[in-house]
Amino acid sequence: MSGPDVAIIGAGPAGLIAAERLALAGHTVAIYERMASPARKFLLAGRGGLNLTHSEPIEALLDRYGEARPWLEPAIRAFPPQALRDWADGLGAESFVGSSGRVFPKAMKASPLLRAWLARLDGLGVGLHAGRLWTGWDEGGALRFSVRGGGEEIARPRATLLALGGASWPRLGGDGSWVELLERKGVAIAPLRPANAGFTVAWSALMRDKFAGLPLKRIALSFAGQRVLGEAMIDAGGIEGGAVYALSGPLREAIAREGEAILMVDLRPDLKGPELANRLAKRRPGETLSNHLRKAAGLSPVAAAVLREAAGGPLPAEPEALAPLIKAAPLRLTGMASLARAISSAGGVRAGEIDPDFMLKRQPGIFVAGEMLDWEAPTGGYLLQACFATGVAAAEGIGRRLSSAA
Ligand SMILES: Cc1cc2nc3c(=O)[nH]c(=O)nc-3n(C[C@H](O)[C@H](O)[C@H](O)COP(=O)(O)OP(=O)(O)OC[C@H]3O[C@@H](n4cnc5c(N)ncnc54)[C@H](O)[C@@H]3O)c2cc1C
Repeated sequence: MSGPDVAIIGAGPAGLIAAERLALAGHTVAIYERMASPARKFLLAGRGGLNLTHSEPIEALLDRYGEARPWLEPAIRAFPPQALRDWADGLGAESFVGSSGRVFPKAMKASPLLRAWLARLDGLGVGLHAGRLWTGWDEGGALRFSVRGGGEEIARPRATLLALGGASWPRLGGDGSWVELLERKGVAIAPLRPANAGFTVAWSALMRDKFAGLPLKRIALSFAGQRVLGEAMIDAGGIEGGAVYALSGPLREAIAREGEAILMVDLRPDLKGPELANRLAKRRPGETLSNHLRKAAGLSPVAAAVLREAAGGPLPAEPEALAPLIKAAPLRLTGMASLARAISSAGGVRAGEIDPDFMLKRQPGIFVAGEMLDWEAPTGGYLLQACFATGVAAAEGIGRRLSSAA
């Protein structure tokens, strides 16, 4: 049976960039994708502006990958943020650095970039086979696909790249069903868990009814020695948003261990405690506490409501007691949003299972890239950066393997 040099399963950013690299190197490439069209999650990421990468110095960026830094670092250094920006620019999606240091395409969406990318891949002769659900290998080691609408297809490429994503937002295609297929082959997988997701807080009925859906702006959150400036969003069941996501790894682990985690919210990170206490000391006679908090401490109604929830009873009237509470309002988090609602997945194929070329040690010729590998990072462009970089690194590895076998 003849087949492509390389089968790439999963048409997300990791799979598509690998396809581009391999096709440019002269290999025949076929992409298999279970959904009717490619890159659904990439398109969804575009709704938030498509934060492609981050402009901070490379050392700081590499630190965002925590424990995974040592094994991701060579791939990210070989395809760093500037390479990703150059690539996007080359597809007409000129990028810019936002005020937070995050990098976005000027169009602030993914669809024009994806359209140009797919046209480039088509021009390079990459075959895109949509509606093909990978179901594993047959006894002879060929790839098996269940075809949408009925039937089965078999492919026997010289090398395979699995770029199947994690299991967040499963309706977009990535549902983690590959975990069982790889475990059957003896590949060790760290359980897929939510990353960059919200947390449960037992709000009062008043908080749920009046403040769900409102943002907490310009706050700082602290947990386990980490402090993050940013924004959060109150929802009926708890709290979510960028600053919460940045701490979601340690918060998730603490809740798994202890059943709860206490998140400290600084509602005025720009003011020192004594200055805040000074301002709070000037309360006009007869002024309600809500008005006083708004005027003297600059707290929005939702920030004041969070303060009351954190106090769990009447707020102290003395400025010396109120100011520290505004600077460190303790919120009790009791659970994490489900993986299906998370922005990304932690867990995946363990680092010890792959060689420096991102090939499975137990399955020579099978490579892995993207979010299905066992790393996690906060939002800020770090997710796409690592997906692209590992896709490029796996493509390089596949190229080396094909040329050494030729
Ligand atoms: C709401 C939201 C917003 C986001 N915004 C950003 C952002 O701004 N910046 C950022 O860096 N990251 C962002 N992300 C994360 C980012 O989109 C993902 O990390 C990235 O898409 C993962 O790329 P991937 O190629 O590894 O996997 P995916 O993009 O998940 O692609 C995997 C593909 O494999 C296919 N597949 C899965 N199983 C099979 C199978 N058995 N057979 C065939 N095909 C299969 C899936 O259908 C899918 O198309 C966001 C995520 C979400 C949910």
